[in-house]
Amino acid sequence: MKFKSQILGMTPYKPGKPMEEVKKELGLKIVHKLASNENPYGASPKVQEAIKQAALHPEVYPDGYAGNIREAVAEHLNVKQSQLLFGAGSDEVILMLCRALLTPETNTVMATPSFSQYKHNAVIEGAEIREVPLKNGIHDLPAMLNQIDDKTRIVWVCNPNNPSGTYVGNEEFEDFLQQVPNHVLVVSDEAYIEYVTAQDFPNTLSSLDNFPNLMVLRTFSKAYGLASMRIGYGVASEELMNKLDPVRPPFNTTTIAQHAAIAALNDHAYIEDCRIKNREALDQFEAFCKERKLSYLPSETNFMLIHTGISGDEMFNSLLKKGIIVRSGEALGFPEWIRVTTGTSEQNKYFLQAFEECLNEHKHSIKG
Ligand SMILES: *Cc1c(COP(=O)(O)O)cnc(C)c1O
Repeated sequence: MKFKSQILGMTPYKPGKPMEEVKKELGLKIVHKLASNENPYGASPKVQEAIKQAALHPEVYPDGYAGNIREAVAEHLNVKQSQLLFGAGSDEVILMLCRALLTPETNTVMATPSFSQYKHNAVIEGAEIREVPLKNGIHDLPAMLNQIDDKTRIVWVCNPNNPSGTYVGNEEFEDFLQQVPNHVLVVSDEAYIEYVTAQDFPNTLSSLDNFPNLMVLRTFSKAYGLASMRIGYGVASEELMNKLDPVRPPFNTTTIAQHAAIAALNDHAYIEDCRIKNREALDQFEAFCKERKLSYLPSETNFMLIHTGISGDEMFNSLLKKGIIVRSGEALGFPEWIRVTTGTSEQNKYFLQAFEECLNEHKHSIKG
């Protein structure tokens, strides 16, 4: 067999450590997973009932067009149904975009560090990857513009950015959109939009009419608490979606996921409540960092990057022994940092206490 040469050096996606595995390995009873930006409160209670109903007929193929959830999202966002494309998570929309637009003759521009799947899928398509370092932890849009040429097909703006938690403001993004040439697709990946509280965050949906080369990505995996359902979507001009839809696998979202998403979408009060609790958690993390004089990046998401002063892997392991799973910054492009997802107030208290202990232990070991 002859695989595409670029695939030979690739490694599969490395997810956050699963809880059950950690429990077994370390003989712990309780483990808190603050590693994958999942909603610690779970999905809206209304989702359970929707799933039960939708599970009655597993023998029937799903509606590939996702008509019901399409209608609900179109109404929710005030866009046309024809402007939407659903995927098995927004991950799959990213995959479809790369499949449709990238070839070995083209290039794609992205920030680094940013969400891993842009690069991963672009590499598979054999496209040239142009990575632009974050500037002070934020997308450097002018530098990204400089990387765009005739062969550029997609430019990715992860807003707010994973793993930094930082965001690009309204004016800056609008400026950028004005300057990106028409032949380049601008992707605004807004996986954490439900958590955003910044007043100057771009309203990208309102730019869609003026920019037929803009696509907004959203997901039900994060604040809506449906990560295991695998459903997300893109919003763009009708024209763009008509071209992209043939790339979509025919039954790529399941009946259960579609119904779960409708129930989750309709519970506005639940999302509002999660946003408020998340902001409180971030404030608590920030206060801790200030008191301990640790650097951190201000976050508009449900996670925070914290500078620990020691290797991220080492801090990850120390916290793991105390039953807390975070993400080491090492594989995320922030070697001496950890990325921690906000938990419930109880989990956050537990985390901060364990983190404090770990910081003290390492201080002692450095002093000898
Ligand atoms: C989690 C995440 C996604 C994709 O999530 P899905 O579960 O595939 O919908 C996309 N972009 C960013 C930045 C993310 O953090």
